[in-house]
Amino acid sequence: MLHDFRYAAPRTAPELLDLLEGEGAMMLAGGTDLLPNVRNGVFKPRLVVDVKKLPDSDRIAFGAEGLEFGPAVTLNDVLRSKDAREKYPALCACVHELASHQVRNRATVVGNVMNASPCSDTAPALLCLGARAIVRSKTGARELPFDHFFAGPKKTRLEKGEFLEKVIVPASSAGAKGRYLKLKRINGHDLGIVGVLMLEKDGALSFAVSSAAPTPVLVTGLRKGVAPDEAAAKVLAACSPITDVRATKEYREFMIGVYVRRLLSEGV
Ligand SMILES: Cc1cc2nc3c(=O)[nH]c(=O)nc-3n(C[C@H](O)[C@H](O)[C@H](O)COP(=O)(O)OP(=O)(O)OC[C@H]3O[C@@H](n4cnc5c(N)ncnc54)[C@H](O)[C@@H]3O)c2cc1C
Repeated sequence: MLHDFRYAAPRTAPELLDLLEGEGAMMLAGGTDLLPNVRNGVFKPRLVVDVKKLPDSDRIAFGAEGLEFGPAVTLNDVLRSKDAREKYPALCACVHELASHQVRNRATVVGNVMNASPCSDTAPALLCLGARAIVRSKTGARELPFDHFFAGPKKTRLEKGEFLEKVIVPASSAGAKGRYLKLKRINGHDLGIVGVLMLEKDGALSFAVSSAAPTPVLVTGLRKGVAPDEAAAKVLAACSPITDVRATKEYREFMIGVYVRRLLSEGV
């Protein structure tokens, strides 16, 4: 049976922050993580605070700082954005691998990173592209780069009383090319066994790996032309996968190496 909770859809950030102070308050974006967890009894919120009525929460736009989007921007909004497709193809490649079209119609990037799953499909792109979160509390806003955002499985570095107001993917990363390889148990949509993104910009290479450690992994400092075995060893050194219901640790390690070598030999 669904646990009872109150629902609020504030229209301003101060109103939302007041509500968040309440005992048992939880934020709602698309609900594709939150609601199954409420139904399963994992979360028992007393109050669910919806972000979708906040001004500009569904806005996605490219400006001087880069691509900016609010907490109600869905994954399909990202895929529909011409700026995202043309300037940040690696972001779209990762977003497109997340679940099905139907889920992507509701699910948001912000909800995906706030869920902080090691298998998040949006995290690899945000890490490689140097994106940052703008986090708001009653004392103001602060920036949290995504390479400092994840604190552990299902844990972020947001404090109580803060919410994620905006994501900025920097203009300096526009034009970077990328390719994301995601291994799944089935051909249809599924959580990843492992996912490896390779991003290339001006001869610099970075890799990000999902489902490979307690938090999504970022590896930088490689150049085009690097020996595939050297790159694979460097990426694997940053990973510490586990055995779980989807795969063994050994299979994950093997496939991370395969994917790094394949991305290098086939290119982005
Ligand atoms: C069938 C199915 C398949 C899926 N497949 C994948 C997959 O392949 N890859 C993958 O990565 N994920 C997958 N997911 C997980 C899920 O769809 C994503 O994590 C989704 O992006 C979450 O976004 P949401 O808007 O639905 O978040 P919600 O469910 O609304 O929220 C998620 C969490 O973030 C918090 N939150 C929301 N907004 C804010 C905010 N602004 N500030 C602070 N906290 C906030 C909520 O309180 C909650 O804890 C799947 C889910 C389903 C149901």
